[in-house]
Amino acid sequence: MNYDVIVIGGGIAGLTAGIRCAGAGLSTALVSGGMSALHFSSGCVDVLGAQADGRLIRSPFEALPDFLAKRPSHPYARVGAESLTAALAFFKEEVEKAGLTYCDNGAQNHFHVTALGRTKATYLSPEGVFSDLVKKTFETRKRLSILNFAGFRDFHPALAAVNLRKNSLFAGWRIRTGVLTLPPAAPAGKNPRELRSIDIARIFDTESRIEDVAAQLKARAAEADIVALPAFLGVSARRGAEKRLAELSGKLVYEVPTLPPSILGMRLDDALKSRFAAEGGVFIAGDRVTGGRMEGGRLLSVNTRHGGGAELSARFFVLATGSFFSGGLSSRVDEVSEPVLGLAVDRTLPRSTWYAPRFLDPASHPFLSFGVSTNETLNPADASGREVKNLFCAGAVLSGYNPVREGSGSGVAIATGYFAAGRIMALSRQPLS
Ligand SMILES: Cc1cc2nc3c(=O)[nH]c(=O)nc-3n(C[C@H](O)[C@H](O)[C@H](O)COP(=O)(O)OP(=O)(O)OC[C@H]3O[C@@H](n4cnc5c(N)ncnc54)[C@H](O)[C@@H]3O)c2cc1C
Repeated sequence: MNYDVIVIGGGIAGLTAGIRCAGAGLSTALVSGGMSALHFSSGCVDVLGAQADGRLIRSPFEALPDFLAKRPSHPYARVGAESLTAALAFFKEEVEKAGLTYCDNGAQNHFHVTALGRTKATYLSPEGVFSDLVKKTFETRKRLSILNFAGFRDFHPALAAVNLRKNSLFAGWRIRTGVLTLPPAAPAGKNPRELRSIDIARIFDTESRIEDVAAQLKARAAEADIVALPAFLGVSARRGAEKRLAELSGKLVYEVPTLPPSILGMRLDDALKSRFAAEGGVFIAGDRVTGGRMEGGRLLSVNTRHGGGAELSARFFVLATGSFFSGGLSSRVDEVSEPVLGLAVDRTLPRSTWYAPRFLDPASHPFLSFGVSTNETLNPADASGREVKNLFCAGAVLSGYNPVREGSGSGVAIATGYFAAGRIMALSRQPLS
């Protein structure tokens, strides 16, 4: 099979690149080995949340020049602030087309509430987590009710409430907790304690149980202006479910990202995949690229685990296989490597420097910034050090940034996926060299 572009990896970076390439009329195939980090993330897009010393960043774009001055190899330094801005706008437009509204707070970060009742800085959130309405309501109303469905084990309103009461952002708030009963349509034969967030979310993919839940909200949170619920309101039909619930209950319904599987992340995954398909992209699911054929500084083709030896060839490739979490990087006792194409990774020895002494060290762990090193246009080098001109790297497989410490995970993935696609679009207009 021959394509203009083959994207390896179906997380947020690969899908962003794939949507842009397919949307530009390039025949694009995406090979995805399985679930991505989106299924575990909050679904919010962090762009730049903290300085290296842990100080919070309010305005990522204002902070960026100083931040990058000390980090010339950072992926944001490669793509530039202009491309980052364009990438975020592209992302918002694309997911909107798929029915998901993502909102920002102008040029500033906003916070979202975590399942443990902490607040975390982020830049773009789904509208159930942040919007002008959410912001205005949080500024003017101070009565919050945190509710859970009886028996659901992965969310604890009392714990969230204890932590929120200690948070200065919630000083003077009245925070109550309560329990809802699952609508009768809960999967037959299952005890509520066995249900995961995805089981409950599916109940709301049809709107049929909304009336029942709205009536319970009115009764159990009668005095609250804002009702925080674990993010359960459907995977695919959320906008309908949330609107209807707000209309019927008269409350602002605020969605709290839960423990994995993350419904907010799954909605995003769903929306991006549907955009890729709508642009005519070919999604090869459940297969993994196992190697590739290189010649003269170009990647000619790749093969996959289930492809029976057949080669998938293309003019351009994007490697977006993620970090250790998704198998895009692998480690042995004394070595970190890129397992698919054997690309050059940043020097990682000695091993004693890989980790911080404490698991939850505020400075985070150095290994999180290991990855494939690239030139300014995100082209990696092969094992012999030769630049691979038609291959672009995007997302967590890249070296030079620490998504956890900086709070930049999805921002870097979107920006580099978008940038890689832009390079391919420009080069595809030129004859092969
Ligand atoms: C638990 C967790 C929580 C997070 N929370 C947040 C958050 O709240 N906000 C935020 O901004 N960021 C968050 N991040 C970071 C952010 O989610 C990641 O940085 C970002 O999703 C990385 O996207 P990616 O597309 O580069 O990689 P991934 O999402 O890891 O996707 C890589 C994909 O490549 C596939 N793959 C791997 N190898 C192959 C192969 N050989 N062939 C084919 N396919 C392959 C994998 O199956 C996977 O689908 C979180 C990360 C984790 C792990």
